[in-house]
Amino acid sequence: MSGARPDRGRPFARPTERGRPNVREPGQRTTATPTSDRLADATWPEVEATTSCPETTPRTPLGTTGPATTLLVPLGATEQHGPHLPLGTDATIAAALAEGAAARTPGTLVAPVLPYGSSGEHQDFPGTLSIGAEATELVLVELGRSATETFDRVVFVNAHGGNAAPLAAAVARLRDEGRDVRAWSPRFGGDAHAGRTETSLMLALAEPPERGRPDQPPSARGRPNPPIGPLRTTAVRGELAEAGNAAPLGGLIDRLRAEGVRAVAPNGVLGDPAGASAAEGRALLDAAVEDLIAALATWPAASAPALGARS
Ligand SMILES: [Zn+2]
Repeated sequence: MSGARPDRGRPFARPTERGRPNVREPGQRTTATPTSDRLADATWPEVEATTSCPETTPRTPLGTTGPATTLLVPLGATEQHGPHLPLGTDATIAAALAEGAAARTPGTLVAPVLPYGSSGEHQDFPGTLSIGAEATELVLVELGRSATETFDRVVFVNAHGGNAAPLAAAVARLRDEGRDVRAWSPRFGGDAHAGRTETSLMLALAEPPERGRPDQPPSARGRPNPPIGPLRTTAVRGELAEAGNAAPLGGLIDRLRAEGVRAVAPNGVLGDPAGASAAEGRALLDAAVEDLIAALATWPAASAPALGARS
């Protein structure tokens, strides 16, 4: 495997065997495309080649039909998930869903996950890092404005319920500005927080590849995505899992909003992780990815807001 490693002893733009430097001339047009579905792995010429190829596929103006380039922006949180799940649970799930959908949707890239959101209700638990609803909305508005400078469409893939309200407000504002932006959230059902549902999801994502983890299909570009990392099997401390307050959320929500999660669930669990399994999590992930792919495929071009239109 040593041949696959970069040679740290050589300068980057070393001469080729023919004696010419292997750098392009300034202005030379590139045909490179990103080597994965991750925006963070790409260079700007690769993104440019993907999002605009003037001679063949002109960028799709808002409100018209035709191929469009889409950026999926996973939204997570850094908040307590009971004594047995990591604080990055929502961010991990959001990234997995976005990458699963992008791998099968041509013209789609995945932005780095936003690991902070509106988590004030979890603030009484150590480690929770919340930026609050107001800042979350502003971050999403600015991200959406910036992303639509490059991409025809932007989809926020949100795996944290606390982000829903600021996300909806941000999307409304962005669409009001004529930007083709949407929000999508998985509908897993089940218990509310760090219970059977989220524990199953994390067990599935923590499965080692040798056990056939199927969440890394070849990307839409025909190349395998690198594994979602750095999730390890130790991400779920199964021996520490315990039931929390499994009462329906509707009956808890007022006190939860007023006093925080710790007041209604001292261990941070809203639900019961008993019975969670990787197989159940895989089925939930697969169904959610299918739902997201369908949402992307059926995105009506007519839904793109006209500039200044109310939506
Ligand atoms: Zn969560």
